[in-house]
Amino acid sequence: MRTPMIAGNWKLHKTCSEAVELVEALKQAVADAADVEVVVAPVFTALTSVAASIDNSNITLAAQNCYPQESGAFTGEVAPSLLKDAGCSYAIIGHSERRQIFGESDEFINQKAHALAAADLGTIFCIGETLEEREADRMYDVLRRQVRLGLKGLDTAAMASVVVAYEPVWAIGTGKTATNEQAQEVHAFLRALLKELYDENVAAATRILYGGSVKPDNVDGLMTQPDVDGALVGGASLKADDFARIVNFQSL
Ligand code: PEP
Repeated sequence: MRTPMIAGNWKLHKTCSEAVELVEALKQAVADAADVEVVVAPVFTALTSVAASIDNSNITLAAQNCYPQESGAFTGEVAPSLLKDAGCSYAIIGHSERRQIFGESDEFINQKAHALAAADLGTIFCIGETLEEREADRMYDVLRRQVRLGLKGLDTAAMASVVVAYEPVWAIGTGKTATNEQAQEVHAFLRALLKELYDENVAAATRILYGGSVKPDNVDGLMTQPDVDGALVGGASLKADDFARIVNFQSL
């Protein structure tokens, strides 16, 4: 059994006080949510404030990024152990905004995956094709490459702390969600790929989230798909009511 995860990626939004206000409202709204892991990922500067707010709640904390070194002359970067020290249980890596805007390669993302495993921090590992890649029939090649290189060298034990997030780039922040069938088709492909790269147990145990314009009005259909184990939510995670409705999804 895979416990569903609903994770909110707050991106570059919210001051410390706004982040605390949002998470306080969310805490009330999801207090009764059971059998679902609720995660929020504020900006670095709000991590410790949000960590204090969610102490003794059913919400866990993620960072939006990390650097694959523990310390040293790396101005402006944050190490996995520091994220853990700030109260994080997870870090998001491989988000398409980091791949596209900051030019992060599969190899660099792989270094981050290893650093997170070494620090005993969970990983939310994002992958996804662009519209151009999908239309050129290169979607599965791209996803295969991202998974193979991004997770390279991670052993079966390390995979227990990895959550995969399939986020088609064309659906992020655009209001265009993948259909339930499109999401299921890719998630089934990814699960089969995990079986090929690891084994049946890893494939069966690894949570695969869908991300890309998930909203209160489309979450139920997505969550009804057998291989969709949760959602990574951007825009709709910034409103407590919307995010709480997503957390309280109904399987159809
Ligand atoms: C995201 O950035 O991970 C995301 C899925 O954003 P949105 O929900 O706004 O499409």
